[in-house]
Amino acid sequence: MTESATVQIPRELLPRDGRFGSGPSKVRPEAVTALQNVGTTYLGTSHRQSTVKDVVGRLRDGLKELFSLPEGYEVVLGNGGATQFWDIATFSLIKERSQHLSFGEFSSKFASAVASAPHLLEPDVIKSEPGTHPVLRVDASIDLYALTHNETSTGVMMKIERPQGTEALVAVDATSGAAGLLVDPYNFDCYYFSPQKCFASEGGLWIALMSPRAMARVREIKEGERYIPATLDLSIALDNSLMNQTYNTPSLATIFLTVHQIEWFLENGGLKFSTSRCDESSEILYGWAESSSFATPFVKEADSRSRVVGTIDFDPSIDALKVAKILRANGVVDVEPYRKLGRNQIRVAMFPAIEPSDVAQLTKSIDYVVRSGF
Ligand SMILES: *Cc1c(COP(=O)(O)O)cnc(C)c1O
Repeated sequence: MTESATVQIPRELLPRDGRFGSGPSKVRPEAVTALQNVGTTYLGTSHRQSTVKDVVGRLRDGLKELFSLPEGYEVVLGNGGATQFWDIATFSLIKERSQHLSFGEFSSKFASAVASAPHLLEPDVIKSEPGTHPVLRVDASIDLYALTHNETSTGVMMKIERPQGTEALVAVDATSGAAGLLVDPYNFDCYYFSPQKCFASEGGLWIALMSPRAMARVREIKEGERYIPATLDLSIALDNSLMNQTYNTPSLATIFLTVHQIEWFLENGGLKFSTSRCDESSEILYGWAESSSFATPFVKEADSRSRVVGTIDFDPSIDALKVAKILRANGVVDVEPYRKLGRNQIRVAMFPAIEPSDVAQLTKSIDYVVRSGF
């Protein structure tokens, strides 16, 4: 036993499942069992044949239903995750100039990717302090607004609203927000994410919900002079997606696990079901922190407090990293703070797969550790 395991948390206080990481995040055991059941009929078979194409079709149809996508919207997918999608957007969605709301690690990375692209103008980057989010400013030079539904590094969420008085596209990084937070598809043109967060799957894939205007932009850029590497060419991804395929070989396990989670949502009431689980978990977490003598929600504005990733500051007298280490030794993992934020805090994922009752048990476990004086 490691030194940090000197505090043994009683079993009746521990969560049943100790995974609270913000990505990769908890994969539901039911999904893994289902994957095992298709271990010789689906895994290891061609992604160009109907066995796999049918599952990709279920992924695309399921997301259309889950997000109530209007007529004409399409679900597009490809390899490389949300990070890859920033480069794709740089080549295939931004015409000349984008505006970025930058309020943490992820939103700032997209802005940097655009800033270093020689074929685009200097982006307009609006920043705000960690723990808050900036507000969009309509500007005639902007042809794409880059928003982030949930900034995973700080635990700040923002409401997605289409700006008035502009024809520019609205692209939303929804990697940790999609399916955990409500959104109205009329407010976005491109809502993209990786499935290792609220979709309780594995990384490596990006999925984008695209409006007809976003697809028209892709075609328009493609017809122009710009050099677009094939893996960053959204028109190629779109053409393949319409045939329930990807441009190159995807992870079949990732696709399967994603579909399993989408269908679990749909069988239980769709987006209302998935988001209500996050609502419940976050009420438990923030309610606990607000009544605690040593913990406080990091995000001051209650409306910006994420319902999918909670950040909780600890009193300086209690070392959050040590608490996280003791939890880890007891099988409760990945509540360490986001490394670059550098605060004495814990970060807790509250994605739909995570049981609200386990979040309650987590708070009891933390209280026990703190009361022990380590
Ligand atoms: C996790 C995350 C990403 C990065 O996703 P990858 O799949 O690792 O590329 C991007 N944006 C947000 C908001 C995230 O939470």
